[in-house]
Amino acid sequence: MDTDEKNGIKVSRRGFLALSGAGAAGVAVSGCGPHKLAEFLELTESARRAPGGEERWVTSICGQCEGGCSIRVRTVGGRAVNITGNPFYPLNRNGLCPTGLAGLQTLYSPDRIRGPLKRVGNRGEGKWEPISWEEAIQTVAQQLREIRERGEPHSVVFLSGDGNGLMDTLVSRFCQAYGTPNDVRNTGAALETQALARFCTQGTRAPLTYDLDNTNCILSFGAPLLEASVSPVRMMRTYGHLRQDRPGPKAKIIQIESRFSATAAKADEWVPIQPGTEGALALGIAYILIREGLYDKRFVDNHAFGFEDWKDADGTAHQGFRNLVLREHNLDEVSRLTTVPVSTILRIAKEFATHKPAIALGEMTSTNAAYSLMAVHALNALVGSIDVSGGVVFPPEAPLKELPTVQRDDVAKRGLTQPRLDGAASRAFPLAHHVATAMAGPLAAEKPYKANALFLYQANPLFSSPQPASFARAFEKIPFIVSFSPFLDESSTQADLILPDHTYLEKWQDMPAPPVVPYPLFGLRQPAVTPLYNTMHTGDALIQIAKQVGGPVADAFPWADFLTVLQYRVTGLFEAKRGGIVEPFTDKSWTALLEDRGWWSSSYHSFDEFWAQLQDKGGWWDPAYSFGEWARIFPTPSGKFEFYSLTLKQSLTALAETGKHDIEGALKDLKLTARGDALCLPHFESPRFAGADAQYPFHLNIMRLLPLAGEHNANQPFLQEILGPQLGMRWDSWLEINPETARRLGVDDGDDVWVESPVGKLKLQARLNPGAMPDVVNMPANLGHTASGRWAEGIGVNPLQLTAPEYDYLAGLSAPGATRVKVYKA
Ligand code: SF4
Repeated sequence: MDTDEKNGIKVSRRGFLALSGAGAAGVAVSGCGPHKLAEFLELTESARRAPGGEERWVTSICGQCEGGCSIRVRTVGGRAVNITGNPFYPLNRNGLCPTGLAGLQTLYSPDRIRGPLKRVGNRGEGKWEPISWEEAIQTVAQQLREIRERGEPHSVVFLSGDGNGLMDTLVSRFCQAYGTPNDVRNTGAALETQALARFCTQGTRAPLTYDLDNTNCILSFGAPLLEASVSPVRMMRTYGHLRQDRPGPKAKIIQIESRFSATAAKADEWVPIQPGTEGALALGIAYILIREGLYDKRFVDNHAFGFEDWKDADGTAHQGFRNLVLREHNLDEVSRLTTVPVSTILRIAKEFATHKPAIALGEMTSTNAAYSLMAVHALNALVGSIDVSGGVVFPPEAPLKELPTVQRDDVAKRGLTQPRLDGAASRAFPLAHHVATAMAGPLAAEKPYKANALFLYQANPLFSSPQPASFARAFEKIPFIVSFSPFLDESSTQADLILPDHTYLEKWQDMPAPPVVPYPLFGLRQPAVTPLYNTMHTGDALIQIAKQVGGPVADAFPWADFLTVLQYRVTGLFEAKRGGIVEPFTDKSWTALLEDRGWWSSSYHSFDEFWAQLQDKGGWWDPAYSFGEWARIFPTPSGKFEFYSLTLKQSLTALAETGKHDIEGALKDLKLTARGDALCLPHFESPRFAGADAQYPFHLNIMRLLPLAGEHNANQPFLQEILGPQLGMRWDSWLEINPETARRLGVDDGDDVWVESPVGKLKLQARLNPGAMPDVVNMPANLGHTASGRWAEGIGVNPLQLTAPEYDYLAGLSAPGATRVKVYKA
């Protein structure tokens, strides 16, 4: 039984599962599912029907989410007919989730764009004319040449989705050679937050990697590990391994979040918490570890800086982490803020300290995310879980060959000195590299300058930004918009030109593994089938555009096509003489033996042999790991783990020196309340919320669900069918409300309700769920499309229409969890 009396919630796992059945039976859901599945099958019959012929199995990488699972695609007569997992690939070892299995619905979707299109009516009117690829590329190159000749290369904006691998590199390379600083990524929250925690405490931006398979305790502060985390299938395998397969004691898993999610249901314990107070709880746990002497003194003494009070070179005294925590985070105060009982905090802290190696990780959507994540990661340092088996580890990157340095001309150099339109790394968002959602305002206001062209690659800001309408106003000011989307999504409908990309089953791509395995792992995506339509790999399109722009831009892209660059990069793996092609099984002791020597599989003797094996097995890895390379792990000013972040101190000092105002003005702009040494230490910043408590009594929690984790998944009927199995929901949005709260509001299960925030209101179906906290309502993300395909359009509502554009300004992290709402019967 998992209960939380203080929060007024009583729910058992069995009760939760029983509720699933009751919910499915008790509420009428859309009956359109079977009809729409049949419709899909009928419409795609001719495309899907295998004409007979040779059977082949092609190894590739799933593209239904960012998880990076390796797949094997069965083709018959050149048609893809089935997708299974790849047993060789260590990330997922044969495993696939239902979302991955549905991948053929991306390939065969009747809503795909079948060739380049030019707008012929007004924007958004939906009038398009098919054009040739030659004309499409020439048109883009001509525009880019003209903008550059006017000396305005900075006015070109490239907005991309989750940057990964070679495409990420090529887009950056293009922007550098062309001369625009506006290379803006819409990076996922999970990676961004892990990178931030590492930057503040360890001085480098690579995401933290967790050796979860060997840990004895996972303390998760809101990370949706089994739903839409960095790699859901990997997490499912890890859960199974830790809870069942592993010999000896099972690991302890504690999920701290405001909703009884699938991750919470599978954990040993669910700890409900007030949204935005996760950092306070982490500091409360730190308080116990320090007060009771449960922290790892050896690690703290030898490898940490700023735990104790200290003096700088001028003799000025500074507060350390120990004293800050002991003075400001006593358990009564932490319990009051978080609503987690004192006894629970005490018990969790002791379990975390005694189940070593233990890992604390988190994912947050609040305005205080940066300091909260620092606090969570500080727990790993306190229990000595840095750079140990079963703790946080720091595998080096796969040794891919570097591309030649870009040579910039004077036009590019001048362009690159201009400020970015998203405000990243400026006074507005000093620690940020990218703040995609913040571009709407500057684009619409044409300040600090007008954007003359916008390129959209795996990005759909007219759907995925807080207040998407604000981006619509920005689009009106941009004279030339190019989309590379394979589907006519919300943003593409407003483009002037569409250069449709292949789908993931039709193209070459590299896939560096997400940071969920404790070693470098490189996956190869290769085409399972010949492209169905007249589409083009965006990497090929970019290379062709660069060549036609000419000059130094063309010089930066000497390759014939994307595959040529990819093979060039991969020669680095072949030449590294370490690691090898992925294997079906690696004995741990064998790996350990090889760790001392560096592992190199000599199963290939030429690059062609290496490439053939890579295609066959799907990837390269180097499972050997060298512990204790502290200089690499802590490239901080102190050379240690920094409880007191000198890295952050340097950033804040630079901010004060470069700003027009004093540091006080800068801190006020960043809406930070701490002052003095606390600014460089993990501490609790009170979260801000749009909407006053009295008028908007509920927190809005936007749930990321695995079926809709990918960019175009909402248009796949099979995935709409399996949306919310716990509540029997499909083909619609819903609002989860605690039953007691619903009773107070006079709302029954299945009633239509209005959800209203300070910036918008939406009507949707209420579903009663005892796994919702009394003052938190939950709504699924990635529904409510107005474009993107016949099965996505008009299905449910988009919760981002309710969210205010709030941020953790210091880090430039969007804070969709910072909106309060009221709920009333429709
Ligand atoms: S977790 Fe993501 S990458 Fe893996 S099979 Fe599922 S959808 Fe594909």
